[in-house]
Amino acid sequence: MQHLVLFDIDGTILHSGGAGRDAMEHALATVFGTAGDSSMRYDGKTDKQIVRESMLHAGISEADIDAGMDRVISLYVATLPSRLRDPERHVGLYPGVAELIHAVHARDDSVLGLLTGNVEPGARLKLGAVGLDFEQFRINAFGSDHEIRGELPAIAHRRMQDAFGVTLGGRDVIVIGDTPADISCGRTLGARAIAVATGAYSVDELGAHEPYAVFSDLSDTDAVITAIIG
Ligand SMILES: [Mg+2]
Repeated sequence: MQHLVLFDIDGTILHSGGAGRDAMEHALATVFGTAGDSSMRYDGKTDKQIVRESMLHAGISEADIDAGMDRVISLYVATLPSRLRDPERHVGLYPGVAELIHAVHARDDSVLGLLTGNVEPGARLKLGAVGLDFEQFRINAFGSDHEIRGELPAIAHRRMQDAFGVTLGGRDVIVIGDTPADISCGRTLGARAIAVATGAYSVDELGAHEPYAVFSDLSDTDAVITAIIG
């Protein structure tokens, strides 16, 4: 195994039409009495980071946020399926993603994984909503593993070691994502970031953060595989 290929979910694999945000706002409003500032961005953040930042902004104390965190996340996960099923949201995959995931999965020099701010149950629900097999992602790091995204690449790297007995060089870890946070999170590990402009950031905006490669979308499977192999 020479490469660990870690996909972000929202804005990279799929769009949920605001289903995740709606479920989170419902959970926040139920537990803390406020859904937070509707203009606050969620992308690039872990679920728990979203809870903490939006509730601090709304004037909730750190102690109260810590006390309510598990309830918010449980309620969010419980609410998410109904929001994902809403046909008005047009939950779906971005162009070429299914083909790219298939192509990486088929390579015997690469392991497929997820690196996402989603808590694990939320990640399962979102992938299930677009018909992707969760089990094909063998080495993962979730927002439920750490609240800080920058800690996630090292967690995935360690799991790779534990599962396969292989210690990959940093540059053999590839993070594919749609935000500057995806680009920067693997820097201390020396991971290579492949940015994709299917989320809220443009090719130019992502390019300014100096990813290893940047694409407008992931539809050119061969070009993305070439970037992954490096
Ligand atoms: Mg994303």
